[in-house]
Amino acid sequence: MSAAGNHNDCDAGPQRTKPLGVEQALEVLLARARPLTETETLPLARSRGRVLAEPLASTVDLPPWDNSAMDGYALRAEDAATTQGRLPVSQRVPAGSSAEPLVPRTAARIFTGAPVPAHADTVVVQESCQRDGDVVIVPAALERGANIRRRAEDVRAGDTVIAAGTRLSTQQLGLAASVGAARVRVYRRLRVAFFASGDELTMPGEPLSPGKIYNSNRFLFQGLLEDLGCDVIDLGTVPDTFDATAEALRRGAEQADLVMASGGVSVGEEDHVRPAVQQIGTLDLWNVAMRPGKPLAFGHIGDTPFIGSPGNPVSLFVTFCLFARPFILRMQGVERGLVPNALRVRAGFDWPTPGKRREYHRARITTGADGIPVAEIFESRSSASLRSLAWAGGLVDIAAGTTVTAGDSVVFLPLCELLG
Ligand code: AMP
Ligand code: MG
Repeated sequence: MSAAGNHNDCDAGPQRTKPLGVEQALEVLLARARPLTETETLPLARSRGRVLAEPLASTVDLPPWDNSAMDGYALRAEDAATTQGRLPVSQRVPAGSSAEPLVPRTAARIFTGAPVPAHADTVVVQESCQRDGDVVIVPAALERGANIRRRAEDVRAGDTVIAAGTRLSTQQLGLAASVGAARVRVYRRLRVAFFASGDELTMPGEPLSPGKIYNSNRFLFQGLLEDLGCDVIDLGTVPDTFDATAEALRRGAEQADLVMASGGVSVGEEDHVRPAVQQIGTLDLWNVAMRPGKPLAFGHIGDTPFIGSPGNPVSLFVTFCLFARPFILRMQGVERGLVPNALRVRAGFDWPTPGKRREYHRARITTGADGIPVAEIFESRSSASLRSLAWAGGLVDIAAGTTVTAGDSVVFLPLCELLG
């Protein structure tokens, strides 16, 4: 059994579970993520954000031949030295054309990207040249080899340019196109179903009756999952009853590769996600030693994994970024970069009372007087505060039992490392 243990016994609430560290919980979770195996071949233009299922190798050299990096004149540097820099212009080579071998003691008018004529070894930029009719006057002393991009200096035919398990970015599509890939083999999209549980939830647009709040998690789930390139199935708002919760879980497990839910994972009598997963599947309820965020529910309904997070929107967001996202990436076939890279920045705040749990503060970076980045934290630590999330550019990560004084170095996780 894993470090997390299996708590199918209904009496074993999170209070009885030994808290898990964030890294430890992530390790156990990732060990249980089964990557997709089904692949499809897509036109390059439709493959952005998809995960490459096989290495992409180049069939061509890049550049395919020596070519000019500038508009100017191609010549032999030695000829400039022996002619006081006066050379007749013997041909014109625009991009897209082919060049004749260079006639000795002449220059070729050449443009960026055009092939360098055989025997030319240097390109002189046009700004350094003067034209005198059919003759070009170049500096007599030239740096041999200047302004030529050499054949295969970027990519050699046969090189792997993008590794399997890479989520294709816009830049990588550009690279794939440059080596002539018209289609790529990618994993199919991951289907993720989610629901928001809670009798208090009302959709925006509906009137708000007493005791109700608007369902914001629906929008967090939808966006976070779409940004990860998932096919998203919204199972709706689920009331706080065992039957409705079990039914939503079953529907999700039937349609999706992963089911997610927010709310109802605590041990209160209104929390039905936990008992429902336990009844129709298996569940580990993890007490992760972090704030916001504990507890985190992980289980299976049949073969379909389930991740349940607390209902507070900030808790959902933080647990999604730290746990669900790496799990989803691994299921999608991503092989590297599952764990966010942290930066060290200077604290622009004091944190005088050490916390019992690791604390993730919503934070924003400003530039200090000396140009060093400084992290400010949001005044409220409430895990219900969506204003704090909308304000933040990342999270400051403070270990349990530590204090911070303004000016100290602190760990900052930028949102670009936590999303998408
Ligand atoms: P729970 O985890 O179900 O105990 O919910 C914890 C807190 O989060 C409660 O104050 C809920 O009202 C709130 N909450 C639960 N679900 C949502 C949601 N979908 N949108 C906004 N707040 C929620
Ligand atoms: Mg609830």
